[in-house]
Amino acid sequence: MTMQKLTILGSTGSIGVNALDVIRRHPRRYQVIALCAHHQIDRLFDQCLEFQPRYAVVRDAQLAAKLRCRLAEVACPTQVEHGPEALVRMAKLPEIDSVMAAIVGAAGLQPTLAAAVAGKKILLANKEALVMAGPVFMRAVRENGATLLPIDSEHNAIFQSLPFDYSGDLLKSGVCNLLLTASGGPFLKTPVSDLERVTPEQACAHPNWVMGRKISVDSATMMNKGLEVIEAHWLFKVPAEQIQVVIHPQSVIHSLVQYVDGSVIAELGNPDMRTPIAHALAYPERIAAGVLPLDLFEIASLNFERPDFERFPCLALAYRALREGHSAPATLNAANEIAVQAFLDGKIKFTEIPKIISAVMNQSPISVLATLADVLAADRAARRLAEQHISE
Ligand code: NDP
Repeated sequence: MTMQKLTILGSTGSIGVNALDVIRRHPRRYQVIALCAHHQIDRLFDQCLEFQPRYAVVRDAQLAAKLRCRLAEVACPTQVEHGPEALVRMAKLPEIDSVMAAIVGAAGLQPTLAAAVAGKKILLANKEALVMAGPVFMRAVRENGATLLPIDSEHNAIFQSLPFDYSGDLLKSGVCNLLLTASGGPFLKTPVSDLERVTPEQACAHPNWVMGRKISVDSATMMNKGLEVIEAHWLFKVPAEQIQVVIHPQSVIHSLVQYVDGSVIAELGNPDMRTPIAHALAYPERIAAGVLPLDLFEIASLNFERPDFERFPCLALAYRALREGHSAPATLNAANEIAVQAFLDGKIKFTEIPKIISAVMNQSPISVLATLADVLAADRAARRLAEQHISE
């Protein structure tokens, strides 16, 4: 067994912590070379003591000095760096094989792209990177021989349910549709007239998954599912018309692939992110993840319903962005990030999130994305517009 050497981008977040939990169960398989966080230095300090990485990265020089000082007191030799350039350096270190991309939002794009350019194995949780920069990112993966393994539970389920040698040709593989399951979030049954008054705490209280605050709000608006539709399009080369969202409140079936002969293949399990993380870490082998076995007798029944695009306008906006293509998904993603943060900060109502995104999309010209600079320009322009709407 060869030791897999890793950089973890976003080690202090929900995905990062789950990834380290799987890694700590297999010390002879995985070595953490770099741990990258933003501001949670207490948690990063503990992680450095336990995993003894060569490098740790934080947001700025001040936090780096603090962490350096604390690590020196306990004689931990981890070298501390800071800032976005350090994240990019960590993603392309020559001594690593794999990069776990688990920074939230657009901030994850540049290091994840750097990992692709360096031809690394990328364990992709940061869906926003793929949504905003799909053509640029997938070209970097292809041209540099990088490997892309999905951590998002739905895409990991689809990856497991597609033929082993799937090459991106649906027809050749006999696939007709991808069915992406969605829990529907905390407001699936809330009267639409009450949505105006929901609080960030209510939006972040997901019924099945424990996640970071941004993705929790995205789940409540179902923008998360919309971003996943776009992610599935890029990962599996499937057009919008062949990606169907299915509400499945129990989150036991993580997604399904429908074949032309009538077969439907799915991946099931308890809703625990350690399963897709362990699958991607060990692929094509299987390793224990600490996840309880699925008890079908306990679950007893599984339910399904069609998504209501009026209750969840963000889902409709994401399909629109995918159909419009080019810079539209980057615009959608940027406007969503700004609107979600404003909602979390108490500046706007929950129901204003889709209104702001829609207004920004209506005002933004659609441009071709050929380079990273094009992506960043579309992202910046949409953020500016969204901020204007919020301050009006
Ligand atoms: P969290 O908010 O829990 O964690 C985000 C991580 O990113 C933290 O380590 C945080 O550091 C770091 N971070 C935040 N902003 C920056 C920045 N500007 N520069 C560098 N690092 C930064 O998010 P999640 O773990 O929930 O989600 C991470 C990604 O995975 C998202 O893209 C999400 O969509 C995706 N995902 C998450 C799932 C889940 O179950 N949580 C499921 C599927 C996908 P710090 O904590 O130090 O501030």
